[in-house]
Amino acid sequence: MRIVRDLPALRAATKTMRRAGERVALVPTMGALHAGHLALVEAARREADRVITSIFVNPLQFGPNEDFSKYPRTEEADLTALEAAGCDIAWLPTVEVMYPPGAATVIEVAGPTEGFEGVARPGHFRGVATVCCKLFSQTEADVAVFGEKDWQQLQVIRRMVADLDLPLGILGHPIVRDANGLALSSRNRYLSPAERAKAAMLPEAMREAANAMLHGAAIESALDAARDGLNAAGFDVNYLALVEPETLRPTDALPARMIAAAKLGPVRLLDNMPVG
Ligand code: AMP
Repeated sequence: MRIVRDLPALRAATKTMRRAGERVALVPTMGALHAGHLALVEAARREADRVITSIFVNPLQFGPNEDFSKYPRTEEADLTALEAAGCDIAWLPTVEVMYPPGAATVIEVAGPTEGFEGVARPGHFRGVATVCCKLFSQTEADVAVFGEKDWQQLQVIRRMVADLDLPLGILGHPIVRDANGLALSSRNRYLSPAERAKAAMLPEAMREAANAMLHGAAIESALDAARDGLNAAGFDVNYLALVEPETLRPTDALPARMIAAAKLGPVRLLDNMPVG
């Protein structure tokens, strides 16, 4: 596996691949890699001849009161894991490489950015769309793999790629969960053992609400029951909603996607699942 930190070296490496007629897949990450990320790398390997994994904690997608400086950084362990997972290139740009002095262009996606994470984290999707557009351009990947863990993000990326006619495919990968059903996340390391056990109540409550809906319960009352149960158990539910899968518009028609964000202790948990 090659470790690349500057753009000319990345361009040279990808040019060689393309000259050889190889199909290239990109897995964008912020590092602190876990089995969820590695499942994306494995899916990328099945999709393409070569896999590039980027590790970049993107300052543009963090708000002023968020955890940019405290975001976990575990580069050495990440590189070992990527090598074992069969990644060909680890792309590790610095902030200066990604945003040289004078950088003045951002990507604004409307539509699916407008609710939920877009409201909770103003400017977040501007940062995500901008860095992903740059990563697509830097790597000239044929396909990029994203986790369904960040469902809204996946829809925002698909929207951007369609709207800007970007020449790559976007592949979504199902959420990887721990044995209790909690979606794996780099930030889960900040949960105490008791909080980590409790955190599995989020997907449980969502699954119960989904089952109730499938058995004819009114959408709002099923969501209310789940929300109340979680808040009573010590979660601070930010949102729990049923939405159209691609537009993220609230809906009460099945099939749909249930999406949730809830704070537990120091961690804001995200989850989502299909209903119907
Ligand atoms: P992050 O490093 O948090 O920016 O995540 C990088 C990519 O990994 C994104 O496409 C995430 O959706 C995906 N991802 C993170 N956690 C999981 C998970 N538990 N299952 C599947 N994909 C995940």
